[in-house]
Amino acid sequence: MVDLVGQYKGIKDQVNESITSILESAAFINGPDVHEFQADLESYLGVKHVIPCANGTDALQIAMMGLDLKPGDEVITADFTFAATVEVIALLQLTPVLVDVDPETFNIDPKAIEAAITPKTKAIVPVHLFGQCADMDEILAIAKKHNLYVIEDNAQAIGANHTFRDGSKKKAGTMGHVGTTSFFPSKNLGCYGDGGAIFTDDDALAHTIRGIVNHGMYERYHHDVVGVNSRLDTIQAAVLRAKLPHLDEYCESRRQAARLYSRAFKEQEHLVTPKTVNNCEGICDTCDCHVFHQYTLRVTNGKRDALAAHLGQAGIPFGIYYPIPLHLQKAYADSRYKEEDFPVTNQLVKEVISLPMHTELDREQIDHITNTVIQFINE
Ligand SMILES: *Cc1c(COP(=O)(O)O)cnc(C)c1O
Repeated sequence: MVDLVGQYKGIKDQVNESITSILESAAFINGPDVHEFQADLESYLGVKHVIPCANGTDALQIAMMGLDLKPGDEVITADFTFAATVEVIALLQLTPVLVDVDPETFNIDPKAIEAAITPKTKAIVPVHLFGQCADMDEILAIAKKHNLYVIEDNAQAIGANHTFRDGSKKKAGTMGHVGTTSFFPSKNLGCYGDGGAIFTDDDALAHTIRGIVNHGMYERYHHDVVGVNSRLDTIQAAVLRAKLPHLDEYCESRRQAARLYSRAFKEQEHLVTPKTVNNCEGICDTCDCHVFHQYTLRVTNGKRDALAAHLGQAGIPFGIYYPIPLHLQKAYADSRYKEEDFPVTNQLVKEVISLPMHTELDREQIDHITNTVIQFINE
């Protein structure tokens, strides 16, 4: 699904040199690379504060702790996402409220958000799934109207641009009150272990969060709030510093692969190719709204599982993201959910399949994958 070794070859000297110098200085925790990466990412994203932390799940949890959400507060998020998003809501004893998604973008449906708002609702967590932003025009308007926080789960869309309806642009993760990301190795900006970060333009919130990640300390050995221990290792920060200057080029390689996939699948009546928010169908050459963390097809003739088995036999990697709606997971089941509230998610879990997507795909590999898919689907 990913080729991290191929990508490493392009940045090997810089990565090896900086890791060696960390080994020689033993600055494993809070070393200079952490501060430098933080500043580099702030300027790349155009955001005032980046707070590095240990992983993307912690980032979400810490963002919610920073906003001082209290047990019983309702937090609305998508039914169709990775479990981490809902896990931290439940862990903090907030009440997760799962809602359905849009069938074309796979992202949270603003109409479903509005329908789920109650007097207890305190926050919305849009997940920018598979590499493009949720409908932030609508989501920010809903949040403003109902006085809710917006926490962007940007683990899959770092580097994506969002064009608002008035034509202005912002980077994914910088539009809400706070944004979070993951540097898990297979993410678009991945390190060589675990890592994560929180972004915000709010000075007071950034200050609060910097204390939370460090045991609730604002002054050494004075613990003002209950915090956690969540740090980005210096070695991981050094890897990320080497990779960040290449992020836009990495995103473009992914888009190029997506264009080749979508062009090959264009005439296929049983396959739905990913739609981009600005409607270029993922094949427009100037697209910058989608960074294709995943390239996800919908198989509409009931043959998804058979296709998956066929790809497996042919030695072509694939992923089913995600096979079970969160509202049907044992840990997150709730008697308030009704099946008719999730028609899209219930359908998507049966139809989606993600193909290999990374920065090192070449034309030959893509031709082999698309030919295998097309031949099978029309058998
Ligand atoms: C990967 C991911 C996370 C969690 O990131 P970790 O660094 O693995 O903890 C959270 N949300 C989404 C949508 C993700 O894809």
